[in-house]
Amino acid sequence: MAKKVNRRQFLTVSLGAVGTAAAGELTALGLDTAAAQEKALTVPIKRSTQTPRLCPYCSVGCAQIVMTDNSGKIIDIQGNPDSPISEGTLCPKGAATCQLVVNDLRWTKVKHRAPGSDHWEEKSLASAMNRVAELVKKTRDASFNEFQEMPGGKAGMKKKRVMNTYAVASLGGATIDNEWNYAQQKLMHALGVVYVENQARI
Ligand code: SF4
Repeated sequence: MAKKVNRRQFLTVSLGAVGTAAAGELTALGLDTAAAQEKALTVPIKRSTQTPRLCPYCSVGCAQIVMTDNSGKIIDIQGNPDSPISEGTLCPKGAATCQLVVNDLRWTKVKHRAPGSDHWEEKSLASAMNRVAELVKKTRDASFNEFQEMPGGKAGMKKKRVMNTYAVASLGGATIDNEWNYAQQKLMHALGVVYVENQARI
């Protein structure tokens, strides 16, 4: 019969198991891992054309291998054991990367719910982009600061040319790659946007 394990024991051993031989330590707690290990050996590893790449999610930069079939369709994305950074491992988010592209539940159309409305309407991508551009311009025009009072040393407060707006912010998503981030920074700084942040850094 399996030994009763309290929460503290479980966490201590689980954390230790991350960097060492997990199965042996879990067995020491009385947990039977044989079935899970046996099952892991039977999980088929999908193999086809293999393309090395990096996980799109965060700045750890774990390496992945994208498996594609003969038609170029992605069939799986796995950790790349050749990586000196991640040695084939991926966190749960990275391990689910395949679902970014292969996912029947993922919305692929723009939906808009107007203020006060109780339902979503399908819109074209162009109309959504136009709406965002229209709101950014309107907000920037209404809040743009050409000059701002700032501490100027012995002279006390001094008016300085700042050319910015505090009313628009940019929050990047974890799947934004280096090139997109570069272009985003250029655009935001050209607009005078001060608040530029990325989800992966929060
Ligand atoms: S999200 Fe996870 S798998 Fe992807 S780079 Fe970050 S730690 Fe690695």
